Amino acid sequence: MSFIPITSVVIGPEEEAAVLEVLRSGKLAQGPVVAELERSFAELCGVPHAVAVSNGTVALVAALEALGLGPGDEVITTPFSFAATLNAILESGATVRFADIRDDFTIDPESVRALVNERTKAIMPVHLYGLPADMPALTAIAEAAGVRIVEDAAQAHGARIGDRAVGSFGVGCFSLYATKNLQCGEGGLITTADDAVADRLRLLRNQGMRVRYQYEVPGHNWRLTDLQAAIAVPQVGRLAATTARRAANAERLTAGLAGLPGLATPTVPEGRGHVWHQYTVRIGADAPLTRDDLGKRLEQAEIGYGLYYPRLMHHYDCYVGHPRIAADATPRAESAATQVLSLPVHQHLSEGEVDRIVAAVRGAFDA
Ligand SMILES: *Cc1c(COP(=O)(O)O)cnc(C)c1O
Repeated sequence: MSFIPITSVVIGPEEEAAVLEVLRSGKLAQGPVVAELERSFAELCGVPHAVAVSNGTVALVAALEALGLGPGDEVITTPFSFAATLNAILESGATVRFADIRDDFTIDPESVRALVNERTKAIMPVHLYGLPADMPALTAIAEAAGVRIVEDAAQAHGARIGDRAVGSFGVGCFSLYATKNLQCGEGGLITTADDAVADRLRLLRNQGMRVRYQYEVPGHNWRLTDLQAAIAVPQVGRLAATTARRAANAERLTAGLAGLPGLATPTVPEGRGHVWHQYTVRIGADAPLTRDDLGKRLEQAEIGYGLYYPRLMHHYDCYVGHPRIAADATPRAESAATQVLSLPVHQHLSEGEVDRIVAAVRGAFDA
């Protein structure tokens, strides 16, 4: 019986050939391969611009800076995310407000609406686990309030609402980190339909230069390299197939796990296209075992799992009392953090492996 990991990275011959070509060109920094990645990813998202940067956290920071956010401004986001979401807002100088979540684990628009005030400058939904947040409702709130939307789409490459891709509703921020659905070790992409925002992002990324040594704004070095882009480009072409395999695994897991007392399998609201970065179940108070018991049983069965995320970001000591984090109450998010567990769903699983995961979970519930 071999271990089934929660993520599995397989770099194939297409990526190898593309990287070798860059190595042999002698031009390793940002160049034509980054431009090709930007072109293909913008097309995938149905937007005119994608700007590549060094990682997903930088994508969020760059989006906020390009929109002119800073001290005194408020950004409303979800507390149920990876720390990068919070850190990026803090890095921008803005203040963080937290809205609560829905049963699908994405930000609740009603809770967002209650937090909007004259200091609000942006709403930052997270398409958690690959499920798009309720963008139609959030877009309506943002438009009424005259605030921007920055989508944390780090986990949601190619996810859709109807025929619209995430990253097309606001400024979209994607990660190409090693474990994401599209990955090159480290990398990020920012999508936008706003020409001025795209232009500013390109300036900020390259020390404020459009032309060498002609500094137009104080900038940064946020560039991605052609070496990294070469790993990502072939994956953009395969993304639809990768997502389809993940979706098939999710469907098989959901069918197999039906009917277990206190176990909630993921819900996908009507019209939303989940890309299954994670397959996350919830072990309720009425289940015969706790989330941590289930984790132990999975370990014994040689099955990897993840807790995304075991605590709300701002509940860690290093953030408590931070002057730019408002202590908004989010009881549903707090409860979710104690009950979620993610099972392997990646595209390299065989049906037999999916069945082994189902059997292990069912066995834990029956014991
Ligand atoms: C991975 C991730 C990020 C950050 O991306 P990096 O490329 O690791 O910097 C931001 N937000 C969420 C929700 C993520 O999962």
